[in-house]
Amino acid sequence: MIPIAYWRNRKLYTRLIGSRCKKCGAEYYPPVKVCKKCGSTEIEEKEMLKTGTIVSFTKLTEPPVDFKDYAPIYLAMIRLDNGILVLGQLADAESEEIKIGARVMATIRKWTEDGQSGIIYYGYKFKII
Ligand SMILES: [Zn+2]
Repeated sequence: MIPIAYWRNRKLYTRLIGSRCKKCGAEYYPPVKVCKKCGSTEIEEKEMLKTGTIVSFTKLTEPPVDFKDYAPIYLAMIRLDNGILVLGQLADAESEEIKIGARVMATIRKWTEDGQSGIIYYGYKFKII
């Protein structure tokens, strides 16, 4: 079961909403309330760029229980084109096209569903471009 925090943080998962420091321009994902570079609390929401490059990846043959029906899952560390590092699942990727340096784009996909409530959880995944 995915925690209630999912609902509170939907924007984070479906639109890659991070934050940007109004004072020095530093960007963060996930968002922060205080800039780690200059200490400013003048922070605004900022949608992250959707494109990036695979920095590292791994194949999960035994993912967490909520995702077991989707095994194997490829998780990748992505360097977005604005320099931010994010962790994300790869969508529709054939193993031979998953490599360090491959270009990816964030897309909204089904993450999982709660069999008892029927609730479907959506979030970003990255597809190879
Ligand atoms: Zn700052």
